[in-house]
Amino acid sequence: MALSPSLAVPMVAYELPVVGVEFDQSIVAALGALVIVVLVALSAFFSSSEIAMFNLPKHRLEGMLEEEITGAELVKSLKDDPHRLLVTILVGNNLVNIAMSSIATALLGLYFESGLVPVVLSTFGVTAIVLLFGESVPKSYAVENTESWSVRISKPLKLTEYLLFPLIVLFDYLTRQINRLIGSTGAIESPYVTRDEIQEMIESGEREGVLEEEEHEMLTRIFRFNNTIVKEVMTPRLDMTAVPKDAPIDEAIETCIQSGHARIPVYEGSLDNVQGVVHIRDLVRDLNYGEAANDELELADLIQPTLHVPESKNVDELLTEMRENRMHMAIVIDEFGTTEGLVTMEDMIEEIIGEILEGGEEQPIEEIADDTVLVRGEVNIEDVNEALDIELPEGQEFETIAGFIFNRAGRLVEEGEEITYDGVRITVETVENTRILKARLTKLEQPADDEPEPDDAAPLEADNDHE
Ligand code: ADP
Repeated sequence: MALSPSLAVPMVAYELPVVGVEFDQSIVAALGALVIVVLVALSAFFSSSEIAMFNLPKHRLEGMLEEEITGAELVKSLKDDPHRLLVTILVGNNLVNIAMSSIATALLGLYFESGLVPVVLSTFGVTAIVLLFGESVPKSYAVENTESWSVRISKPLKLTEYLLFPLIVLFDYLTRQINRLIGSTGAIESPYVTRDEIQEMIESGEREGVLEEEEHEMLTRIFRFNNTIVKEVMTPRLDMTAVPKDAPIDEAIETCIQSGHARIPVYEGSLDNVQGVVHIRDLVRDLNYGEAANDELELADLIQPTLHVPESKNVDELLTEMRENRMHMAIVIDEFGTTEGLVTMEDMIEEIIGEILEGGEEQPIEEIADDTVLVRGEVNIEDVNEALDIELPEGQEFETIAGFIFNRAGRLVEEGEEITYDGVRITVETVENTRILKARLTKLEQPADDEPEPDDAAPLEADNDHE
């Protein structure tokens, strides 16, 4: 095998078959090398384009459009069809890389007799060159300069799309067909990070000690917030303090004071016809410092409009709506238009920052022992599950622990009754009229795996001590 270049091909002149011009071997080599350099540059251009275009987040592109950065429009139009864009880049990149390899093999062939040597040399040589200068360096550059680079390469990319038009149309069609055959959606751009990924990061953040427990809890609650509906946070109708429209103002003030609430709904006829809300501040101001004589003042004049919302409304939407309308209270109605309760800003904010207790207000969940809690009837099942690390069913037709007990018993329950569900003993502690005010939950020792789980087999019946 002749490895010495000078010995391998002693002739010095070549005739190009098409044009019939004779070329010196060194000129051919120099030209070939030049072409390879140009191809490496093109390869760098395509690789960096891929990174710049697909790493540019949507919100940044929108920002660039707002700032009217030249070229941003073109970047957007290219990104509007990500599949076509990727095909353009890939066709371009593969063309230049493969051309580079072929030219390198041909050039090396001028110096080596054996066909194998040029192939091996060009394979490894071109791979090294492409990896370093056609991929690694340009991609690193594009990662750091995504915005400015995407603007710069947008015009040449568009030009490439025109130049390689037939090839791009062909491969665009073929790849879509193949995607369809293998059942892929062909989605090229995935969100930069997904919700699940952020949630996992929050979990591992707490495990690793990067996040404080409080921060972790608040972040977790924020993620739960958009799945929470108004019904889960409202104050139910039974606890609503409201006044009739024809009540005198001083009576309304007294109602506010006695209930401890600053705002109360005003209704006409019944609670199902809430007209609006009055604030104690307006009542006191107008009664004591207003221009109208006291006997002319009517509650109706001080009513502020309120929102009526369905109980299934998402709290994040309602919070935005209430902030926009500068309202602090909304009335919750069911599908039949019956008033179900009321919800205030505080009820929704508590979902993120945790319970806000005032003065003598009791904790909704009181920890009695490691495995026992005393909970108020209106506490959401989700919160009880979290407190005791148990799994009572959520998201069914009941939201609260009182609702759950009522549902399992299938009838009104009395104080002292006990039910057991999925390893949790629930004792009804306080009942007022028909309403379960307090319940005690105890997590029982988990039964051994081979013992049958009675609750899974049949719907649970309350173990009624009183019957
Ligand atoms: P306030 O401080 O006037 O009580 P907030 O908006 O801070 O009002 O709400 C505190 C809690 O009291 C919330 O759970 C809310 O649903 C409830 N609440 C507010 N106003 C009333 C009312 N008129 N009747 C019944 N509950 C109310």
